[in-house]
Amino acid sequence: MVTIEEALNIVQQQEVALQTVHKPLMDAMGYALADEVKAPFDMPAFDNSAMDGYALCGIFQEYNIVGEVAAGDTISIALKAGEAVRIFTGARVPESASAVMMQEKIKVEGNILLLEELPKMGQNIRKKGGELKEGQRVFEAGHVLNPRSMGLLGSLGLEQVLVFAKPTINLITTGNELVQPGQPKSEGQIYESNSFALTGAMRQFGFECQQTKQVADDFEATKRSIGEALQTCDVLLLSGGISVGDYDFVKQALEENGVEELFYKVFQKPGKPLFFGRKASQFMFALPGNPASSLTCFYVYVLPMLQKLSGYSKLGLPSYHFPMKHAYESRFDRPSFLKAGIVDGLVEILDGQGSSMIQSMALGNALAFVEAGGKRTAGDLVECKLIS
Ligand code: AMP
Ligand code: MG
Repeated sequence: MVTIEEALNIVQQQEVALQTVHKPLMDAMGYALADEVKAPFDMPAFDNSAMDGYALCGIFQEYNIVGEVAAGDTISIALKAGEAVRIFTGARVPESASAVMMQEKIKVEGNILLLEELPKMGQNIRKKGGELKEGQRVFEAGHVLNPRSMGLLGSLGLEQVLVFAKPTINLITTGNELVQPGQPKSEGQIYESNSFALTGAMRQFGFECQQTKQVADDFEATKRSIGEALQTCDVLLLSGGISVGDYDFVKQALEENGVEELFYKVFQKPGKPLFFGRKASQFMFALPGNPASSLTCFYVYVLPMLQKLSGYSKLGLPSYHFPMKHAYESRFDRPSFLKAGIVDGLVEILDGQGSSMIQSMALGNALAFVEAGGKRTAGDLVECKLIS
């Protein structure tokens, strides 16, 4: 048995070999950059107008209008003092322009432009290099592309990016009692739900489950299925069959497939019977079958491993301290990841903390960490991992 901290360290300290791949920018969302990115040119690349209005040469109250520049025009007009051009947002500002006056603050009489107020030097001109200078580092390797970084890379003209590949993931669910949704079930059977929760959690964080298989509580079938699944994946997840019951065959079946145990059992609630193993460059997590346990173990341990295998520089769920809405006293003898809801900045520990209960998790948005027997009064801070 290891502590939560030890288990997380073991996950985080695994040596991994990362593969790189060129991705079209449009498909690169959620991938980590394999190399730093530097600005290939100044941003903006030319002085341009922040407004629809008039570009002015010199500071006066009145100007002669001598032309027009629209966004995308490549012409360059040389303005003389006292001259102005009609200009539009994003259009290149003539080099000699002193300012742009917004069109709401002017009057035009024939070719004469009259200003309501004197312009200020540089006003409404977005300067070349004002955001980034050519050669300046934009992102470090390991930065995970989000919609904003995608936009920025697009504006830097990159159509492809070098990123780290993501791991291929297979899932095996075990249990004689499991019936797939949509099928009739008899007394004593339950619907298999962990594959939906785990596949959903993978997708939520940008990972795909390549293949899901269900096996009976049978040692040979489990061993064979693990062997087959390991032919085609980097990470194998298993659900159920990893506890100490007479029908729990997963640990032995993993061992007989040459899997080295990195840890088995974590001093935590839920999710004590969690197994983490490795075979050469492949990783295996055997998650406890109880729905809240398997999903909690995914969020806390599997996710950082998947991210590490994807070259992410930051691992795991975002975690923050929030004040408690109510007093809470843990009746658990192990440190716990409690199903919690953060509403208006306050944490509520939800009813339904059992390992088999998932409704509270479905309605909540966080896992609140409380040490064994821990007490909190209203307003005390509690560490929360954000799950949505
Ligand atoms: P196990 O870890 O196999 O002992 O299973 C613990 C509990 O989780 C039992 O009540 C199982 O019926 C339930 N369980 C196991 N696997 C699943 C699954 N894939 N979907 C829903 N419940 C499951
Ligand atoms: Mg079972």
